[in-house]
Amino acid sequence: MCQRMPFSNDDLDFTYPLPADFENRPSCYICVYKGKVAIDPLNLPDHQTILHEDIKDVKTKRIVQYLGSLGEKLCYAIGLESQEEVPYGMQLVFLRDLMGQIDDRTLALAGRAVQLIDFELTSKFCGRCGIPTETLEDRGKKCPKCDLLIYPRLSPAVIVLVMQEDKVLLARSSHFSSDIYSVIAGFVEPGETLEHAAEREVMEEVGLKIKNIRYFASQPWPFPNSLMIGFIADYAGGEIRVDGEEIIDAAWFSRDELPNFPGKASISGHLVDWFVKKEEKRS
Ligand SMILES: [Zn+2]
Repeated sequence: MCQRMPFSNDDLDFTYPLPADFENRPSCYICVYKGKVAIDPLNLPDHQTILHEDIKDVKTKRIVQYLGSLGEKLCYAIGLESQEEVPYGMQLVFLRDLMGQIDDRTLALAGRAVQLIDFELTSKFCGRCGIPTETLEDRGKKCPKCDLLIYPRLSPAVIVLVMQEDKVLLARSSHFSSDIYSVIAGFVEPGETLEHAAEREVMEEVGLKIKNIRYFASQPWPFPNSLMIGFIADYAGGEIRVDGEEIIDAAWFSRDELPNFPGKASISGHLVDWFVKKEEKRS
């Protein structure tokens, strides 16, 4: 069931901190500014459009995060402090707009870069006493006064495909701009298991009970810092009921009458695609 998802850095060695011989290793840099990534629009989709090999003044940059290594090559994110620092000939593009424009590995690295630069910029000061934090050996930050520890923020969210015999439950969210229907999703609460979150979200959003919850796959989703954990579940009871605000409509769909659903950039598209292929195999 597991498959590689867009934004997953499966090829990247996450070992932290930097290797001792870092100054002798080949390196590359992704420049980030306000959630955007600097690209060379003339060379899309070549990955070199955002991986700069030769930023000569990198040591003068104050906002740098080590992302990990791809083989011998060390990858860094550089947080630009103004638009004037955008390398010559490049332009800033929102991460979301790079989807489908560059290869998956570079897109995943860009997603990690945007999140770690955001962490660097939002963890400069202690949220409890407001004084500057210190950087730890393990990527974390620590307040020297109250010992508060800060690590990159990650928000787990469950995403659940619910089946009833040969039909799938799909819902239309008020957040979707078009007529897209998708599977049910929501954030995990503190103190909650993933399975409980799946049951709760399906009940809250469409009023149904589910059973046989099984793991499908996970996907980092850097908008801004989610980790989507995908499940498949079976219908266990209840009638569809939507609140009309968060969820506008929900219904059971057979494979032959599926509405528009998300593409395979997201795990929701992979879940529905799995359902379609499962039916194909059976028929
Ligand atoms: Zn503090």
